[in-house]
Amino acid sequence: MRVLLVEDHKGLREMIAAHLRERGFAVDPVSCGEEALAAAATAAYDAIVLDLGLPDMDGMVVLRRLRGGRHPGLPTLIVTARDSLEARVGGLDAGADDYILKPFDLLELDARLRAVLRRPGARLAAIYRYGDLGFDAASRTASVGNASLDLRRREASVLEELIRAGGQIVVKDALEERLYGFDDDVSGNALEATVSRLRRKLTAAGSAVHIETTRGIGYRLQIGSGP
Ligand code: CA
Repeated sequence: MRVLLVEDHKGLREMIAAHLRERGFAVDPVSCGEEALAAAATAAYDAIVLDLGLPDMDGMVVLRRLRGGRHPGLPTLIVTARDSLEARVGGLDAGADDYILKPFDLLELDARLRAVLRRPGARLAAIYRYGDLGFDAASRTASVGNASLDLRRREASVLEELIRAGGQIVVKDALEERLYGFDDDVSGNALEATVSRLRRKLTAAGSAVHIETTRGIGYRLQIGSGP
């Protein structure tokens, strides 16, 4: 789950980014409208957390440009001061957006972001199942049969992408794009290492599902004990 965070206040931006990363999101933090548009031109995002008062352009202009480009239904959480919101509330699309007033609690931000992600057309809709595996996208918890599976953040993200694909191949590049923001320090085999750990945990939990490597292409879940 990859989020574009647009906030010009450095301290707030860093605090929100750290919090969302801790909660399992890949986050690209940017500080102005131009940077937001540049990031969105090269990456696909599941949601945007957007400050309206930006130094170079109004946040609503950023949102209109993103929606008019390659992110038409982008779930959006607007972060703003009350006076700024009242002038612009007419720009909100009730289906895709929510807003949160500064100052706010980080847990509330997280809850609101998950709420916009759960709306129709957004990704965070469901509990996914494949074989004996389950993944609850809202709580980010995984299970094998009735037992919960203890996963680290990136392992959970890999499982989430694979289980959503329902046994279809997930291309490695797409998986990396969903998992890592631009600023994340990603070594060449970070994804392979995460997949290896996830495989060991699935085996240890006695799952009937394994992760199959399609060499040079990507990964997929398959039912059966595997190679
Ligand atoms: Ca601002």
